[in-house]
Amino acid sequence: MGGSETAAARELRALDQSLGRNFLRLTDRVFVACGYGVSTFSFVVGDRGIVAVDAGSAPGPSAEAIAELRRHTDLPILGLVYTHGHIDHTHGAVAFTEENPEIEIWAIKPFGTEARALARNRSSITMQRSLRQFGNLLPPQKKINTGIGPSVAAGNTSLGIVPEQRIRPRKRFETSATIRLGGVNLEVTHNPGETDDQVFVWFERDRAAFAGDNMYRSWPNLYAIRGTPYRDVRDWCESVDRIRALRPDHLVMGHSLPISGADEVSEAMEVYSRGLWHVYNATIEGINAGKTPDELVAEVRLPDDLAAHPLLREYYGNISWSVRAIFSGVLGWFDGNPTNLDPLHPADRARRIAGLAGGPEVLVSDAIDALAGGEAQWAAELCDLLLAMDFRPAEVRALKADALDELATNMLTTTGRNYLYTCAQDLRALPAVDST
Ligand SMILES: [Zn+2]
Repeated sequence: MGGSETAAARELRALDQSLGRNFLRLTDRVFVACGYGVSTFSFVVGDRGIVAVDAGSAPGPSAEAIAELRRHTDLPILGLVYTHGHIDHTHGAVAFTEENPEIEIWAIKPFGTEARALARNRSSITMQRSLRQFGNLLPPQKKINTGIGPSVAAGNTSLGIVPEQRIRPRKRFETSATIRLGGVNLEVTHNPGETDDQVFVWFERDRAAFAGDNMYRSWPNLYAIRGTPYRDVRDWCESVDRIRALRPDHLVMGHSLPISGADEVSEAMEVYSRGLWHVYNATIEGINAGKTPDELVAEVRLPDDLAAHPLLREYYGNISWSVRAIFSGVLGWFDGNPTNLDPLHPADRARRIAGLAGGPEVLVSDAIDALAGGEAQWAAELCDLLLAMDFRPAEVRALKADALDELATNMLTTTGRNYLYTCAQDLRALPAVDST
């Protein structure tokens, strides 16, 4: 590491100190567990019992957070409310059911909408893409953090290892609910954004809002490259504003450290809201001007003050991918250019382009030059043409792997870094010489 690190890697590594374990006392009644697993979860303490907001990502770290809580209070944990159905907020629930088998687990109805939509379409590829996005298959030295939490441990998929009945919601509500348990009163309200089953939790007594994954210290993941149904960005903007309208004194987010102080929360939510609305509105304007996604990603940018703001850096989500998601979410796959209604097969196009260039050998040497000249994206695109023709595939795979590594090391968005590094690793795992 050290001096040869890219600017992106240095910026990510600087986050490490804020992403470690931190058991915070936010108010006299609210404790927040950060860095216990990959997500943030909380405990709200009443006179006779405790209600948790989210369960963390894995039973072990969640049990350790509960042990930390026990240094402050012996009251029973009577309830648990999920902000949404993602496993990084639910799989820790085993630690809670072990504490109290009778615990009330609250969630909105329907719950787990995203996973269900993928399962319904037998979307098995999302597992592989998910492992790439989270870097599960990468050696530790290729990972820094997730930008909003510690990196996911190698080999730990967190998927399918938790008995479903131990974490399943037992109390369901339609659009909103008041949870009254052990002297704790929590208002829970549907707040679609990252998922359709997202809610926010409001603890009026201490003016603390729990935003789930609609907000954290990064540009949000308006599109997950593992592949998910459209996350309605207009809903997301409105959901951020719904929390903002309450003018909370404390804001606890689904990942990263909470924010305290009415002024600090107000500024943070203003920045987040303005950033999201800006990208959404600029994309919609561009769509209506007839621009294609490829053109829009070159144009839609945050204003400088927002782009530099630590809450909107592209650590986890990415603005270009958000723009593409808005386009396809609103209009579907067709970019509007009739040429693209029925384009050539990639192999056919590649052969014609190679013919124009003077043969595929020219593309190989151009790809080598491009990579050496710092144009890794162009090198990767040339490699794709060659692979489409199946031209010297072992050599071209190695070249493409180098190009993907180069793109990864310069990318700030951790999901993209992991995806690029993993695909490079996959390419190198294929035979290194062509069979003759
Ligand atoms: Zn999450």
